[in-house]
Amino acid sequence: MLPIAAPVVRGALGRVLVVDDDEQMRKVCARVLTHEGWEVFQASHGTAAIAAVHEAVEPFDCVVTDVHMPEIDGFQLIAAVRRHDDDLPVLLMTGDPSLDGAVKAIDNGAVSYLSKPFEPEMLLSSVARAARRHGVARMRRRADSYATRLIAERSELEHRFDRALAGVWMAFQPIVDVSTKQVYAYEALLRTDEESLRRPDLLIAAAERLDRIQELGRTVRAAVARAAADAPRDALLFVNVHGLELTDDQMFQSTGPFAELAHRVVLEITERISLDPVAGPDQISALRKIGYRIAIDDLGAGYSALGALATIEPEVVKLDMSLIRDLDHHATKRRVVGAISTLCKELGSRVVAEGVETAGELEAVIAAGVDLIQGYVFARPGRGFPIPTW
Ligand code: C2E
Ligand code: MG
Ligand code: MG
Repeated sequence: MLPIAAPVVRGALGRVLVVDDDEQMRKVCARVLTHEGWEVFQASHGTAAIAAVHEAVEPFDCVVTDVHMPEIDGFQLIAAVRRHDDDLPVLLMTGDPSLDGAVKAIDNGAVSYLSKPFEPEMLLSSVARAARRHGVARMRRRADSYATRLIAERSELEHRFDRALAGVWMAFQPIVDVSTKQVYAYEALLRTDEESLRRPDLLIAAAERLDRIQELGRTVRAAVARAAADAPRDALLFVNVHGLELTDDQMFQSTGPFAELAHRVVLEITERISLDPVAGPDQISALRKIGYRIAIDDLGAGYSALGALATIEPEVVKLDMSLIRDLDHHATKRRVVGAISTLCKELGSRVVAEGVETAGELEAVIAAGVDLIQGYVFARPGRGFPIPTW
């Protein structure tokens, strides 16, 4: 058990360790500091003080110590504190001041030197000054190490992202027209060989963080253009577009390998884009002029929902799989899907149900009036152009 008294009152200003073998002096200092608002700990000798500094869960802001103490004196205590904490301030007190002593104290790393007897204000102002300087130094160190960590993390992410871009390929998943039993289209889905960014949401989040969405979009469009040569001639190609890609001039070029496919490409955007001033209706009509068709992806997953139908007038609407899941066991969802499907048809859009997994969901979705189906029930996304299983 350490011979340290419990703090008198929990102080708001910070934590001070008072070390003196003279109990009277120690208590006076503690009382003055506590009254001011410091949380004060006391040690009656150097060994206890060193243990307190080492074991403190929350570091001290300042140590105030007598110079002359048996066994370990104030100078030795400073040396021991320095080995543990480079800049925890130590104030020395002595009843035997001398210029030599002051010089020695500073040489040893004390921040100040108080000659006994001293006025309470002298103690308070010295402790406050020392603790403030220490606090600033500690904050600076923390900020420095935080910045260093951020820079290191960013550069590591850049490297992984570079590898991911180099390893991009597109998986394709059929969208099936159940009324004709034909593949209506394939959705291109982003994949990479870089292990740590295999999930498209992680890869996209990395691109957002690194401000490299446009680069990712260009890579995707190039990969789709390369793969398109092997796509069945009569199938459309659905390609996901991130909102920030609509700030890339290359997206609006009417020449190039991707633009040449425009007449068979449906660009999937999320309803959020329709509300975005930098990627709004003007961009959408520019894309249409090149020949692209527009689909609203994930309808029902967001908040703006039906507003996008009016502002974008999409050729295709894709219902989010959260609406489709367990549709066969959910009468209300069936009514919602039925109503949206009727509305979309009236507005001239085709409707795709996404994420249809089971025969039950398939039956329910068809009964609700949706005839374009994408989901594991027919095929998972894969290399090449997977053939649906009926
Ligand atoms: P999304 O565009 O809504 O794509 C549909 C997601 O549902 C795909 O996930 C697909 O693999 C998955 N899926 C298809 N059928 C089923 C099913 O029956 N059950 C279940 N549980 N899931 C099914 P994926 O490939 O992980 O893509 C996730 C999201 O990442 C996409 O959602 C899209 O928002 C984004 N994304 C994917 N590729 C690209 C891309 O090339 N560019 C951009 N900007 N975003 C992309
Ligand atoms: Mg999509
Ligand atoms: Mg979707």
